[in-house]
Amino acid sequence: MVTRFLLKKTLWLSLLAAILLALAVMPAHAQEDTNTVRYVVQPGDTLSSISVRFDVSVADLVDANGLADPNNLHVGDVLVIPGIDWIDGVLVLQDMPLGESYLSVKRRYLLSDEDMARLNRFTSTSPEQLYAGFQVMLATERGELTESSRAVVTPGLSLLEIAAASGDNPWALAAVNQLPGTWAALPGDVLFTPGRQAAGPGGLPSPITALSLDEPGFMQGKTLVIRMDTDGEAQAGGEVFGHPLNFFPLGGGSLVALQGVPLEAGSGTYEFTVTGTLPDGAAFSFAQPVRVDPGGYARASLFVGEEFLDEGVSTVENQQVRELMTPVTPEKLWTRLWGWPHDLVNDVTSEFGVFRVYNGGLAEGFHYGTDFGGGALLNIYSPAPGRVVFAGALDVRGNATIIDHGWGVYTGYWHQQEIYVAEGDLVEPGEIIGLVGKSGRVSGPHLHWEVWVGGVPVEPLDWLARVYP
Ligand SMILES: [Zn+2]
Repeated sequence: MVTRFLLKKTLWLSLLAAILLALAVMPAHAQEDTNTVRYVVQPGDTLSSISVRFDVSVADLVDANGLADPNNLHVGDVLVIPGIDWIDGVLVLQDMPLGESYLSVKRRYLLSDEDMARLNRFTSTSPEQLYAGFQVMLATERGELTESSRAVVTPGLSLLEIAAASGDNPWALAAVNQLPGTWAALPGDVLFTPGRQAAGPGGLPSPITALSLDEPGFMQGKTLVIRMDTDGEAQAGGEVFGHPLNFFPLGGGSLVALQGVPLEAGSGTYEFTVTGTLPDGAAFSFAQPVRVDPGGYARASLFVGEEFLDEGVSTVENQQVRELMTPVTPEKLWTRLWGWPHDLVNDVTSEFGVFRVYNGGLAEGFHYGTDFGGGALLNIYSPAPGRVVFAGALDVRGNATIIDHGWGVYTGYWHQQEIYVAEGDLVEPGEIIGLVGKSGRVSGPHLHWEVWVGGVPVEPLDWLARVYP
């Protein structure tokens, strides 16, 4: 009897202790359990756009945040979003950086496929939707994108080996990555590795510390400057818009590739791939959808004599010019800002990129160069060092010169009166290479000047405004 009573008493005391302990820790738990999902107000947000995004009424948003003036919303304000009970933390909209993938973002923020789909209202969770620049909704306090502790699973590198290298417990590593077991990490998978800090793009292996793109990025008719930094000496290639990416060393483990974005690339997504060899000899590959922004080029309607529209002649000549202006010479010949090819620099009579419709639609096409006016017999200068790869008469382009500047960069000079250089000549910046004329299919004397990068005509004036690496 006595023993039983004592036992009971001990039990009651333990229960009481447990209740007191529970009460003591209750406030912290209570706060988490009320599930205050917060959202940081972004540029362009209004209360009604936020209400649509999170499927919550404006009235509930006003109530939950005690908003006195619903129209007085500021970028950076933190709003409580009522009614979301399936995720915690602060929701942030972030532009998908170049070098991240659906997998790398999902893993680094420790989000499930379902979380990603609900946060981003994907109809079906598809990596295709996360193109570079896509505004992806993520929840923080589950991982941060700032320091990318990650490892890319390759055919020769299992989760067990990754865990050994990062100092993580393999089973904990599988769990934090929401994998059912250590065996479930497949080649191409990106694993969040809390045990090791390594900055860099999450979709690429950690010896690669940066993958970046100069402004304005993927825009019709612009020159892409793609840089990759690596700890050690890596080699890289890749492809975009059906053109190979040619990376060249800049020193110190940095590589750079220049590539034109075709005028013909409309708004839409394209596959961007980077492949190569890491300093330790291991192969890597990465793919990400990218979106091309429109260049905002004008349309023009032109009427020309029928002899100007002989497509047979122009198709053969276009192919000839394309073949001349596409090969990549690995030696870069320019080192500083380019000079102007023509003295009347402000007299642009037709801009690059104009979409021309001829004779009410009999023919059409983009203007691949910049036209400079001022009449005939003006000097034409080489803007940069280069090697002449063509100098001669063409049917459409008239007296034409093409100069190879290296790294897949070419310039073209059409409709000349006189050509002063010959194939194989090395030219210096400022050297007079010919005189303006009206040879070929042209209505009046002018210099038509083209710049090609990676087999693609680009905005030539960009090349006079900045130094390309
Ligand atoms: Zn032109």
